[in-house]
Amino acid sequence: MLRDKPIRWWSAETIAIVTGANRGIGFEFARQLAGHGLTVILTSRDTSVGIEAAKVLQEGGFNVDVHQLDILDDESVSEFTKWIKEKYGGVDILINNAGVNYNLGSGNSMEFSKQMIETNYYGTKNMVKAMIPLMRPSAAGARIVNVSSRLGKLNGRRSRIEDEALREKLSKLETLSEELIDNMVSTFLIQVEDNTWQSGGWPQKFTDYAVSKLAVNLYSVLMANQLAERAEGQKIYINCYCPGWVRTAMTGWSGNVSAEHAADTGVWLALLPNKEVTGKLFAERRELKL
Ligand code: NDP
Repeated sequence: MLRDKPIRWWSAETIAIVTGANRGIGFEFARQLAGHGLTVILTSRDTSVGIEAAKVLQEGGFNVDVHQLDILDDESVSEFTKWIKEKYGGVDILINNAGVNYNLGSGNSMEFSKQMIETNYYGTKNMVKAMIPLMRPSAAGARIVNVSSRLGKLNGRRSRIEDEALREKLSKLETLSEELIDNMVSTFLIQVEDNTWQSGGWPQKFTDYAVSKLAVNLYSVLMANQLAERAEGQKIYINCYCPGWVRTAMTGWSGNVSAEHAADTGVWLALLPNKEVTGKLFAERRELKL
């Protein structure tokens, strides 16, 4: 059971970064976290679009700063890292929200698979690696929330990789590794290139998206385990959550959940007083079995 007491462990000095926050679920994250009284760094890959989005929140009296950030551009990530370190000295919360999905409706084209894997998995990983050294020690622990998907569940009923031996390796901490996850996504991309992916035993729905989010979920489990070894007071908790099917540009505005509702579980997870929660996948404030 999750102990979810309303303990306010954060303050206006608590720094929360949101990637891809110029619109959609990311913008809602920025709005809600700022509404809880944190200082939010709204990032956007397009500078002027980010400034406009931040203005809306700043004019509403929220404590929101803004900076350019393209999670796939090494130079952008390193410039952002330098800026945040100089201006704020560190980070307490990272919301890895930026992501892409080019599948709409029942479409399952592999045209943009590489871009999808790169943004959703490698982009998220870039940010985790860049921000961990900046995460500040605190009694509550620093937090990373990855906006993921239940389509990327390792043992999902309708969406999972069929190779049982691989699933077994990915499901055990003794055999799970970054190399194994990277190899899984590389194998998938090679099969897309060769046009053999259909017989590769990959998830059937939104295949490339599901593989990218599976990689994010598994990487989070791996990191959670590594970060758990840090000394008390220096802990970093990392979790994933599925926002549901959300009415944003990504779904062509066809989802059944508002962006506001979608961000809610992620905000709850980021601010959770219970410190033992790490390496999990949530939806609707409930833990899903990976
Ligand atoms: P949107 O398409 O509305 O927003 C995506 C955001 O990610 C945009 O701000 C976009 O920037 C940004 N982005 C994309 N690539 C990059 C990059 N390389 N660097 C920085 N930012 C980037 O989608 P949603 O709000 O719906 O999606 C947010 C997250 O939620 C994603 O991770 C998505 O996979 C996840 N999700 C969404 C679901 C849904 O039903 N909508 C379901 C499950 C998960 P720009 O405006 O410049 O394109």
